[in-house]
Amino acid sequence: MTRGDRRWLAVICVSVILAALAETAAILLFGDLTDNALRRGSLDAFWGPALEWLGLAVFAAGVAYTGNSLAAWTAERFVMRLRARVFGHVQDLPPDFFARHSRGDLVERLTGDVEAMEQMVVSGAVSAVSSLISALFFSAAAFWLRWDLALVVFALVPVVWLVSKAFARRIGTVARRERAADGAITSVVEESLANIVLTQAYNRKDAEKRRLRREARGWMRASVTGARLGELYTQLIEVTETVCVLVVIGIGAWEISQERMTIGHLLAFSAFLGYLYPPVRNLGQLALALTAATAAAERLTEILDTPVTVTDPPPGRAVRLGRVRGAVEFENVGFRYPGAQEDALTQLTFAARPGELVLITGASGAGKSTVAALLSRFYDPAEGSVRLDGAPVNALPLAFLREQVTLLPQETMILRDTVRRNISCGRIGATDAEVVRAAETADAHLFVTALPDGYDTSIDPGAARLSGGQLQRIAIARAVLRDAPVLVLDEPTARLDALTARRVIQPLRRLMAGRTTIMITHDLHLAPDADRIVVLDRGRCVEAGTHEDLLARGTAYARLYTSQGTGPFDHRADTR
Ligand code: ADP
Repeated sequence: MTRGDRRWLAVICVSVILAALAETAAILLFGDLTDNALRRGSLDAFWGPALEWLGLAVFAAGVAYTGNSLAAWTAERFVMRLRARVFGHVQDLPPDFFARHSRGDLVERLTGDVEAMEQMVVSGAVSAVSSLISALFFSAAAFWLRWDLALVVFALVPVVWLVSKAFARRIGTVARRERAADGAITSVVEESLANIVLTQAYNRKDAEKRRLRREARGWMRASVTGARLGELYTQLIEVTETVCVLVVIGIGAWEISQERMTIGHLLAFSAFLGYLYPPVRNLGQLALALTAATAAAERLTEILDTPVTVTDPPPGRAVRLGRVRGAVEFENVGFRYPGAQEDALTQLTFAARPGELVLITGASGAGKSTVAALLSRFYDPAEGSVRLDGAPVNALPLAFLREQVTLLPQETMILRDTVRRNISCGRIGATDAEVVRAAETADAHLFVTALPDGYDTSIDPGAARLSGGQLQRIAIARAVLRDAPVLVLDEPTARLDALTARRVIQPLRRLMAGRTTIMITHDLHLAPDADRIVVLDRGRCVEAGTHEDLLARGTAYARLYTSQGTGPFDHRADTR
């Protein structure tokens, strides 16, 4: 994901190298100053090196500023792209992925985990490069000054390295636990807020608090352990450094007494050590930060590695249809949900000619919604084919297919936005007049104009400003605006009471007019209107035909129909 930024990364590296070079030169000047100006007490010998030093410092500052600003910019861009890529990928994933992951955990991955990586990338990457280069230069300079002394100091490097490695592994484990606990906390909070009525009405406040406390305790334990490990590491390194400094001063004192070294040399050497430690310490710290960020990265790659099961056909093999008439065919379709034990559909065959109404009915769990999922291509069937105007749906570009098939699911999909936006999102570029016309067709115009701000009133799926039936009519208006040749209605009235359902029937009929409609329902009041009724039982078609034919047979369908009682709007609970 750094592909577009390699040029900038090169510039950053060059600036980091220049800054480190300038710093190294400044330290050598410091040795010169000590031996020539300080020890001899000569002000004349001061000016030259002092001016050079100042010049170097200003140069180093300028270069470091440019490099670091550029680095922050590149890193933030990288993080932005990372988030966009994961977010985009999530949006293409099949419904079973969302069934397996709680929404809170996904939110945490897209926010908390991305942030954890941001810290690593933004401050980490630059400081790693700059520390590494500084450390290299300072050690080279130290070797150049006194290779034997430098060797003594570097004998300790493997020790530091081993210590960091041991720490990194343990911090990695803790960081993974912490990220997972973060996800669990967000899940609890999200779920609890989504079910606030349940929490309050069933006095589950304490239970919810306990649930949060349990996750929070896991998180706290992981965080504290992480902090303790980090601190222990820092302190161990400090003690090691002190040992180094004492060894150098001891050897230095002896060397000076033997007149094999000047104080200036020793000071410059110590200065290099002093300068060397922060980058070395940084590198160690970075190794730890890297392991922590890796835990976050793993959670993001887990998403990125989840394959998108439904993809566009390869460009050469895509079928292009002109105007779609809306012929829908299922032929010997078999399908099993990922991870399920049994097939959701077996050898299902039925067809709807353009403009026909086909009713799919059957008990709960019979596979009705699966028919809708396959037609909108949320999944591909394992066997057989689903065709639109004769073309297998998986040979059509996905966006094109979904333009042709409008899905109206059981739960009304309402955005937290204005009524206008809620309707106009049915079709990009719809004009206000078209929105109003769609609302009129859906019998929504009257109650919308009665709202305080009319079409600009903000609605909220959870708030009681609009009734379920009104929200459903807004969803119908959106479908009307979408104007697709094929309509899939998944239990459109199941969540409404009889009276409200009746109000929705007229708008639904208008929406269905002239479109192929696959209506999934166990409510058979529209059955006499249907051109064909398909009765499913455990994924198989047990009966198919018109209402009259099936009634006359007196088998499964007739039993279903008569069991619904007298009123066509008798909404019974699922039999499952
Ligand atoms: P209906 O709409 O008739 O109630 P569905 O089409 O929703 O039935 O489900 C058909 C079968 O597939 C059921 O046995 C159900 O338990 C199973 N099923 C539905 N969705 C999933 C899923 N995401 N993962 C696994 N099994 C599923």
